[in-house]
Amino acid sequence: MDDNRSLQIGSSGGGAVAILALDIGATKFAAGLVDEAGRVGAVHRVPVPDHDVWEVCGGLLREVAAGAPVTAVGIGSAGPVDVPAGITRALNIPQWRDGFAIVAAVGSLFPHATVRFALDGACLALAEHHSGALRGLRNGLAMTVSSGIGGGILVDGRVSMGRTGNAGHIGHLVVPGWDVPCACGGFGCLEAVASGMSSARWARTQGWTGDTGAELASDARAGDAIAVAALERAGTALGTAIGSAAALLDVDTVVVGGGFAASGELLWAPLRAAAARHSGLGFIRELRVERSGLAEGATLCGAAILAAGLPAVS
Ligand SMILES: [Zn+2]
Repeated sequence: MDDNRSLQIGSSGGGAVAILALDIGATKFAAGLVDEAGRVGAVHRVPVPDHDVWEVCGGLLREVAAGAPVTAVGIGSAGPVDVPAGITRALNIPQWRDGFAIVAAVGSLFPHATVRFALDGACLALAEHHSGALRGLRNGLAMTVSSGIGGGILVDGRVSMGRTGNAGHIGHLVVPGWDVPCACGGFGCLEAVASGMSSARWARTQGWTGDTGAELASDARAGDAIAVAALERAGTALGTAIGSAAALLDVDTVVVGGGFAASGELLWAPLRAAAARHSGLGFIRELRVERSGLAEGATLCGAAILAAGLPAVS
């Protein structure tokens, strides 16, 4: 999807128009122009600041639009979200945690634009369905495993949004055997056990001295016993949750992207083993779990598909 760098500048009454996609991540905003096939051109990124969050986000959108009349904007946001109300409550952006009316704010910048808004996990599923591992399928689960864990659900040919737009929050599926407190207020959630950040935190309690999930994966490859155990722990929790979710949703294809999912076989072998252990029912016995082939900006690609108004039905 990122192979086409051309920018869509259509023609409307003689003036150039623009379609924009925006990804509201935990640590950065990303935005780009979109063509009619839902492809993103050059991507602009800025870190999420501690203050003046909307000013920075809006400034990014203005920069990308470059003065052209904007006709549509697609927004994918870290969760939770309130899609019917057009509000993001992104847990990792303190200024927005209690709710920010993102659709109204974007609409005020571009009063002639149609603004479409979804959870980042739903955008991920849209992108995987459009051009990734879920292409041509009617049922599947798309996940991201990085500093957090999220997902989106494709059921009966359509990406499920849920009552409030939050369907797909697989990071808060509870996995047995761990009572780790989660940022959501619960205990034993997948994200609290198996994200890159959570795995690194656990490894530090065992005596490991690194910082990030990427360092943990690197140390595991070098043979560090604690790092190896941390990846095994994360993989087991992920596979367990995936098997359970597959049974709940009746899906046989799960695609996993995100930085921590790139940790290699030391994560994937226990993941596949646990998924196999928890997919004994006949209808999910052929469960396939694969690495995403999409580039890092898959959520933005999903937001582009939203912006372009491509049909969500296969
Ligand atoms: Zn939780």
